[in-house]
Amino acid sequence: MSLVAHFPEGFTPRREQARLLDALESALAEADADPTAPRLFVVEAPPGIGKSHLAVTLARWSESAYLLTSQKLLQDQYEREFGDVVQLVKGRDNYACERYPDGRVPTSLGMCRRPRGPACQCPYARAKAAALAGPVFCANTWYFATLRHWHAEQLPRRRLLIVDEAHSLENQLVNVHAVRFTAAEMKEWLGGLLPRLDIADEYRPLLAPHLERLDAELEAIVRSLEAVRPPDLEPDVFLQMPPSRDEVILLERRDALAGALARLRAFVDGADKEWIVRYAADPGAPLELTPLGVAVDARALLTDCAELTVLLSAYLGPSAVVAETLGFAEDDVRAFVTSSPFPLEQRPIVYRPVGALSRASLAALEPSLFAEIAGILAAHPRDKGLIHVASYAAARRLMADVAQRAPLEARRLIFVESSGAKAAALERHRASAAPSVLVSPSLREGVDLPDDFLRFQIITKMPYPDLGDPWIAARRARDPRWYAVETAKALMQTYGRSCRHAEDHGVTYVLDAQFERFLQHNRPLLPEWFLDAAHAALRVSPFE
Ligand code: SF4
Repeated sequence: MSLVAHFPEGFTPRREQARLLDALESALAEADADPTAPRLFVVEAPPGIGKSHLAVTLARWSESAYLLTSQKLLQDQYEREFGDVVQLVKGRDNYACERYPDGRVPTSLGMCRRPRGPACQCPYARAKAAALAGPVFCANTWYFATLRHWHAEQLPRRRLLIVDEAHSLENQLVNVHAVRFTAAEMKEWLGGLLPRLDIADEYRPLLAPHLERLDAELEAIVRSLEAVRPPDLEPDVFLQMPPSRDEVILLERRDALAGALARLRAFVDGADKEWIVRYAADPGAPLELTPLGVAVDARALLTDCAELTVLLSAYLGPSAVVAETLGFAEDDVRAFVTSSPFPLEQRPIVYRPVGALSRASLAALEPSLFAEIAGILAAHPRDKGLIHVASYAAARRLMADVAQRAPLEARRLIFVESSGAKAAALERHRASAAPSVLVSPSLREGVDLPDDFLRFQIITKMPYPDLGDPWIAARRARDPRWYAVETAKALMQTYGRSCRHAEDHGVTYVLDAQFERFLQHNRPLLPEWFLDAAHAALRVSPFE
């Protein structure tokens, strides 16, 4: 049966979807026939194309797929829309141990976690077994990569590995592989806060001597746990006996120490990798040792888990950059690109530069930036919107300024104070009958605000990744092209909030004059569906 015949039931593929599926079908056939053909497919489709439908079509066709999402929210969306096709599994903490009557203890702390605790097929074990047995194992990338890297699980090889929203794949893998110690952990396990050093390798001689001592400490905790363990009883009786307070403390210490030791060992034994130190100046800051690249691990993950990998996103950048980042040769990658199905009038960009915003110019330019924002709010008196700001600090300054300058407009603003406050703020925005406007540095992607939930958005500052982060600075120093691609990814994701489906429309205002400069320098990197809107905004021919 053809690939398109596996399109989710009840839906008809759009023209762009059908074209992509035809092209993918030929490439899959070629990969079957020729073992040297490319095995990493990169599918770029603008927002609103329906990438999850493409992912599900591929997964159903293969009958044997891992389908990875960038976040748990997206995983839930797959379950809602395609629950009959995908088998979902999340991390242990998302399931409650059924052996505790009040059901509030996660399975990661379940009754069976004691030494020689009998397992009893809890909701987590059942979900994982069903996902492993079913044709489409659906998880988030973090969980999947953690299983492999930190739990050394050998996941059986499947026909396809499909990664949705794959523009964040490198970042997610880097975070999974990072070795992190909180201030409390350093005090507890490493004899106190470690000094601030610039070179990661200098931490190795400081950390290595702790290994032997902590190994011995872990053994001692395990022996103590054996001593307080309930005597040998029938499994059912054992699993109905909650641990004593002493036992709970020991269990927590054991799990925390085992985790710290695994991280310690990964860094001490990882001298062949280049690591970057992230250790902020404030006294309670964690120490994070982060691998500069994950090419070797990414390649191993992608090639071990499946015969062929499909990466999906609105924009992933040139194949050469994707290949290098993930440890592949450029000719191992095959790219599939489609245009936007939505006319320009539904997704215009309006360019209103107040100046080239940078750390140095920000203080001088903010008054005109805030005045421009107040003007745009006044021009959309009945529309809901979204203002993308550079940071939480910039958001606070904007809120204070608009409160002074335009108190009526200020009442429309909903400040999303932290990433934890996102869900509640979105809920408030959606529920409000007023023309509310979200203000946030972290709603560039992963949020769906179709139709009247977003009629305008404002990009205050170009989303350049923060060079104050040592990892980003080092990555850019190694490959300036990577930095441009990451900026473009963030810009495409932000622009993509404006028009979510064929009948939707929304305008994007860009207020940073760096936009024009970025476009001039990076035109060949950018997709056509974005360039057409950007060039219309700049009033220049798209292809000059
Ligand atoms: S005791 Fe049973 S329900 Fe609880 S975590 Fe262990 S296997 Fe799961």
